Parts: sequence; C-alpha cells; structure tokens
Amino acid sequence: MTQISTEQLTKEWQAVLDQTPENIYSDAQQLAQQHAPELAQSFYKHMLNDTVAAQFLSHEQVQERLSSSMQRWIISLLSLTRRDGLAAIIAQQKHIGDVHARIGIPVHLVLRGARILKETAAKLLNQHAQQKECLGFISTLIDMAMEVMSQAYSASNDDNSRAEESYRLFSIAQNSAHEKERQRAALLDWENKAMFDIAMGLQFSQLSTLSASEFGLWFRHKGAHAFAGSSESVLISAAMEKIDTVTLPMLELVQKEPERRQHILRQLHDQAHSIAYHLETLFSQINELESGRDVLTHLLNRKFLPVVMSKEINYARQHQRPFCLLMIDVDLFKKINDRHGHEAGDITLQQLGSLLSNSCRSGDYVFRLGGEEFLMLLVDITADKASKVAEKLRQLVEKEGFRLPQGGTLKITISIGLAQYVGHPDPQKLFNRADDALYQAKHQGRNRLIVAD
Ligand code: GH3
Ligand code: MG
Ligand code: MG
Repeated sequence: MTQISTEQLTKEWQAVLDQTPENIYSDAQQLAQQHAPELAQSFYKHMLNDTVAAQFLSHEQVQERLSSSMQRWIISLLSLTRRDGLAAIIAQQKHIGDVHARIGIPVHLVLRGARILKETAAKLLNQHAQQKECLGFISTLIDMAMEVMSQAYSASNDDNSRAEESYRLFSIAQNSAHEKERQRAALLDWENKAMFDIAMGLQFSQLSTLSASEFGLWFRHKGAHAFAGSSESVLISAAMEKIDTVTLPMLELVQKEPERRQHILRQLHDQAHSIAYHLETLFSQINELESGRDVLTHLLNRKFLPVVMSKEINYARQHQRPFCLLMIDVDLFKKINDRHGHEAGDITLQQLGSLLSNSCRSGDYVFRLGGEEFLMLLVDITADKASKVAEKLRQLVEKEGFRLPQGGTLKITISIGLAQYVGHPDPQKLFNRADDALYQAKHQGRNRLIVAD
C-alpha cells in the first residue's frame, strides 16, 4: 500500500498551522486545558455503551489509565503551536496507531471516538465569539491526528497479516510427520483411558474431557489455527465437542439403564476413530513448506511472537482461560563462550532448546528470542501451576549435564520471569511484565524464578 511520507504530512500540517490566527491557537489550548476531563468523560461514556468497544476497555488498568491518557492526548494535540511540537505530535499519533494495531482495535471505533470529541467540543464552544473558526481548527487537528494514526495502523496491520500467514504456513510445515504421530498417539491414549474408566464404572464427573486432553489442547490452540478453513478441521472440532457434551454425559444414565454402557463405548470409539481419520487427511494435504524456525535450535522464531500472542490473547478473552509467559535467560552465558569456545555455547543452546520443548505440553509454545534468551507460552494455566512448572524446569536445567564438543559436560543455570495474562489487551504489556520479572531474578542473584505481580 502507498504511504504518504512524514515529510509531506509535516508540510501540510505546517500550512494549516500557518493559516490559523494566534488567538484561535490560544482559545483551542484554553478549551483543552479547562475541559479535558469533560471531553475525555464524554468519549469514555459513549464507548462503554458500545459492546465492541467495551471489549477493549473492560480491563480495569485500561479504565484507570484511559481517562488520564486521553486528557493528555487532547491537551497536547490542542496545545500545538505554530512554531514547535509538530514532529513530536506526529510521532505520538504514529505510536498510538501502532498500539491500536497491536491490540486489534478496529479503525471505525477510533473514528467514532474522534466524532464524539468534536461534538463535545462544539457544545463546549457554544457561547464562544469565534465558535466557527475555533471549532474548524480543532476539527482539523483531530482529523490530522486520525490520518497519521490510521496510516500507522494499516502499515502495522499489513505487517501483522503477513506474519500471520507465514506463521500459519510455518505451524503446518513444522515437523508435520512427527506432529501427526504425536497427536494420533495422544488421541489414542485419551480414548484408551476413557474406555477403561467407563468400563470400570467411573462417573461422568470423574472423567477428563477430550478437549482438556493433550490432543485437545494441541488441537484447540494450534491445529485449529494451522488448518483454519479446512472442512476436516471443522469436523474435528464438532466431533470433539460431541464427545465431551453429548456422549460422555450419557454416562449419567447408566445406573438406570446399564445396557447403555455398551452403546456409549461404541459411540466413543467411532467418534474418536473419525477424528483420527480427519487428522490423517489434514496432515496428508501438507507439503513440506519453507519454514521459519530458528536455525540453531529449531524452536519458533521471534518473528512469530506477536502473532502467537495476539492469537492466545483472543483465545483467552473469548474462553476466559488463563495463560502464562516464562521469560528465560541463561545465567552468565558469556563465561561459557569465553571458557569453552563459541561452538560449546552453540551446542549448549541446542541442548537447552530440546530440554525446553520436551518439558512442555503440545499446546504450549517455545521461542528462541535471540542469543541465550527463550520464551515459553504455557496455555490454559494459572501462575500458580505455571510457577511449579517453571521451578521444575529450573531444577532440571541445574541438574542436566550439557555436552561439550571436546568431551565431558558442563553445568548451567537459568533465570526465569513469569507473568500470567491478566486481561490487558496489549501483548507488549504482558511481555514487559515477564521481562521485568526476569530482570528481578537476575538482580536477586540468578538461578531463580520470579513471578510478576
Ligand atoms: P546474565 O546472567 O546477566 O544473563 O549474563 P550473560 O553473560 O548470560 O549475559 P550477556 O547478555 O552479557 O551475554 C550473553 C552472551 O551470549 C553474549 C554472547 O556472546 C552470547 N551469545 C549470544 N548468542 C549466542 C549464540 O548464538 N551462540 C553462542 N555460542 N553464544 C551466544
Ligand atoms: Mg544471560
Ligand atoms: Mg541475555
């Protein structure tokens, strides 16, 4: 898509600023300084009444901050002078556009917000001597801000869609043969266990559902995304839901009608069999695609992080499920390179990479962020449980012997920062909380886990 250059935008803004009389500037500024709270409040009131907008505003942190940042935005925009501040204002609007894209706020909501602000400003300027001129100026400023914001938004959004598509292809191609076997086995494991439990007379409430199983987690978080749009994927989802919400609950009737048990077992077997069949078809359609994994460790590349985070935040929001990030950094890694050579460092990173991926469930994600930094995204888990996982991981690494190319082994330790998703829609916030916790872990002496509050 074509973008107007910042230079051209600056010129156009400057021209508008040059045409406006001094007193209009000071009136706009005065309006902002006196009435920023009312402007922000009317905007906010309107938006909370909108169900789509309310989705993005429901988090209390957003609510706390929105009003004050909105007020600051109004004041800085309307206090623009003819001589300075333009570059900073443009940069600010770009930043806001990027944040909106990251969170996924639709452009029409932002434009509606702008309209509400203009309407409120018109009411406030009702008695003003130069109402028309002043309002015209304020509207122009708001329109220009919207222009820069939406330009940044669509640029970010284009990047996101490209990354999203490439992630989809990547997740399909990555180890597809291995993945197929693993998921087929996971499905079979669940089926066997369920059949056994049912035969042993367990009640519905004592059984674990297919969607909560290893296979279910993988399918809901990865499979469904990787194969989005295919008919098999829809069929698998439907079959899984039927098992969990129709077939298994029928067990409650078994006490009265014991002959039902046979029927349930047969149904369960047939349904699991049809899932396995669709799974086979799905995987057989895949060609080995060019993939974007990290060259050294074969883990997920950092470039997929924004896509995966947004996807998981959406999932968490829709299904009210928790998830956690573990930010992991090898302690004093530089010394390992210095002492044993860069090749030893590389091998250590590879071995650590496998250890991390082998320590998590199929629904989880492991990224190499770069250097000796890794990130794990653990799905369907609260900080409480995730901290047990993380602590186990820390101990596992501490005990492991890492192979040296020249023979023998070496010991390493890792520091971990953990943060649970708490509903804030911006992935960057969650990332920063995990990163800050990691920083704390380093600061407090390394080889430890810190959980973000
Ligand atoms: P800290 O406990 O504070 O994390 O100390 P550190 O030494 O691990 O941290 P620092 O960031 O100072 O050093 C990281 C080192 O990791 C620097 C770099 O030489 C090394 N490194 C980064 N990427 C690679 C890689 O791909 N292979 C190897 N062998 N070393 C790497
Ligand atoms: Mg380090
Ligand atoms: Mg580091």
